[in-house]
Amino acid sequence: MTAVSLMDWRDSKHWSETPKPCVLCDTPTHLRSERGKPVHKVCAEDWNDTRTTPDQTAAKRRRN
Ligand SMILES: [Zn+2]
Repeated sequence: MTAVSLMDWRDSKHWSETPKPCVLCDTPTHLRSERGKPVHKVCAEDWNDTRTTPDQTAAKRRRN
């Protein structure tokens, strides 16, 4: 069972007119992360979830 924490990206700071390749999946997106990186909301949520869970998952990801 995977519980993914949902983020609230309704704010305009999370939207750009210019699509750029998502830093996580490389598919162009209008969305921007909290830090202004082009990233899909779902990708960010997935990443965020991975990052906040202890080692096993995060370590697995890093070896990619
Ligand atoms: Zn993506």
